[in-house]
Amino acid sequence: MRKITTVRTAAATLALCAAAGLTTAATAAAAPASGSNDPGANRPALEVPFPCGDVWSGQTRGADDPHPHNPLLAIDFNLPTGGDSDLGRWVQASNAGTVTFAGNKGPGYGNTVDIYHKGGWSTRYAHLKEIAVDKGQVVTARTGIGRVGKSGGQPSAHLHYEQRWNNDDQVIYFGNTKAKYWGTTNYTRKTLC
Ligand SMILES: [Zn+2]
Repeated sequence: MRKITTVRTAAATLALCAAAGLTTAATAAAAPASGSNDPGANRPALEVPFPCGDVWSGQTRGADDPHPHNPLLAIDFNLPTGGDSDLGRWVQASNAGTVTFAGNKGPGYGNTVDIYHKGGWSTRYAHLKEIAVDKGQVVTARTGIGRVGKSGGQPSAHLHYEQRWNNDDQVIYFGNTKAKYWGTTNYTRKTLC
């Protein structure tokens, strides 16, 4: 039952990811105000959400894609080996912060962790197999916050990842490097090891 082509797996994943934003937008917790109307002014350094040295394939899908991502600017991470090879791999916080949500958001996102960093910025990690932190917990950039899974009804394991400002998804940067929009490329954490 695992002989699914990469293309088919990706397409099925997209459809379900697309449902995530729709079902959870109304329940998103309010983030602290930043005191600025410019998200970029207070952007913290955020890293690839995996241990240093690991190579992960990250995919973005724009409005012209047959299956646009929802929210649009999120990244889906898989190991380059595909399928469920990433199931159970540790996810790390993108930087230090405080856990503002740790639980199941239901169909779409599934088991999800939200971490508030500073300046209105937070990061979201979804479809987790298990969650290793609690709401209110202070984490570092090296804290393992959970394991990659397929919760929320995903057909194959991957990490759905967002960088948010005042609860709106934003263009993702790792350090000063903008993520690839649109398409798939490899990402490796290089700082905060
Ligand atoms: Zn996704």
